[in-house]
Amino acid sequence: MTSTAPTDAPTVDDVTAERLAAALRCRTVSYEDRGRIDPTEFDRLTAHLEQSFPLVHTHLTWETFGHSRLYRWAATDGGPDAAVAAILLAHQDVVPVDDLAGWTHPPFAGVVDDEFIWGRGAIDDKSRVLAILEAVERALSAGVRPRETVYLAFGHDEEIFGAEGAGRMAQRLRDAGVRARLLVDEGGVITTGVADGIDVPVATIMVGEKGFATVRLSVTDVGGHSSMPGRQTAVGRLARAVARIQDHPFPLRLTPVAVDMLTRVREFMSEPRRTLLGLVHVAGAIAARVLAARPQTEALVRTTTAPTMISGGVKPNVLPQRAEAFVNFRILPGDSVADVLAHCRKVVRDRGVSIELDGTTSEPSADPSAGPDFDLVAAVAREVAPGIAVTVGVVPGATDSRYYDDLAATRCNFAPIILTATDLERIHGTDERISRADYARLIRFNRLLLDRLVG
Ligand SMILES: [Zn+2]
Repeated sequence: MTSTAPTDAPTVDDVTAERLAAALRCRTVSYEDRGRIDPTEFDRLTAHLEQSFPLVHTHLTWETFGHSRLYRWAATDGGPDAAVAAILLAHQDVVPVDDLAGWTHPPFAGVVDDEFIWGRGAIDDKSRVLAILEAVERALSAGVRPRETVYLAFGHDEEIFGAEGAGRMAQRLRDAGVRARLLVDEGGVITTGVADGIDVPVATIMVGEKGFATVRLSVTDVGGHSSMPGRQTAVGRLARAVARIQDHPFPLRLTPVAVDMLTRVREFMSEPRRTLLGLVHVAGAIAARVLAARPQTEALVRTTTAPTMISGGVKPNVLPQRAEAFVNFRILPGDSVADVLAHCRKVVRDRGVSIELDGTTSEPSADPSAGPDFDLVAAVAREVAPGIAVTVGVVPGATDSRYYDDLAATRCNFAPIILTATDLERIHGTDERISRADYARLIRFNRLLLDRLVG
């Protein structure tokens, strides 16, 4: 891959790069099976953060919730009721590595070279934890004393749904009556060469997120020898149910946030797309169909359906007594978890198939739209990455920020790092890394944001 940043882009010095690399060496891996989580690795990360950012740990107060850390940077002359400018979120945990052999450098080695800082968490999401701390440390060192209060909330279990970390920190803020202007978290980035028909890099500042639900389908049967199978087996019946769900996707729907997204990128497109998009208000159905043609954009216009696991039977010549399958849905704002379950029951039309929700679910954001401080965040994004197009979007997965949705007037899931389609695959994938230029931009973005909000 060639570097996407201009060659004269600011970069980070070795000391700053090494502080991130040291954080990447802590194996703060979240597993659904919580017994596998190693708390000593989280302790190591805590010690590293406290040692690396002395001013933060002198001037800010903090509370811990397990290994989650909620910092309060109090307004200089504010009492407990001072206005709150922002809640900056990031998470300390990472996903496991499953293709160890495929990595150029071991995922927890924290290797720094001339161009990149390598390791699991380099993008998702330790770079954001460290960049926020770097920005606050530098602001403190420059003598900034905030006009309004700022909270930093670093979860420890985002990758396993965040209930113990973000869930409790958000509740703590809610109990304290906190209402912030701005909430910033992971989600959108700047992509290059990804958006069809747009030649400039596109920053997608996500303003909400889709919901999440997994449905479990199961069939039980008496079993027996396969020489006398009856009309259908548990496997056949289950397969038909899965096929029916896959063949009946949720309807296409152009949400207001999708219309806003298209409107904002329109000026960066060439004809005839530009004219076509001008008609989006009157021709929403056509626009939705165009977006649905590619998986990357289909997610914007419907609740997506993905059968992900299927199992059943023990032997080729024995009738299965049990078969089960799992189907994962990402729920478009406007639909709900209950809608997903009802939809499955309706299209399967078979009482012999048991259909229920499995595991954690989350509802989509209620009515995602660009809030009052969206333009401020967009302006700072343009300042650190000149020449980009800026638009809105909705995070296709669940993030910690859903716990905080009611605590801020404007929500932005965004980091100004510039990624190609190949780079996007590194997130939760193999060879995750961040360029020094991107990391420098991420720190500068947080610093400028703090300056504009409270400087
Ligand atoms: Zn993440």
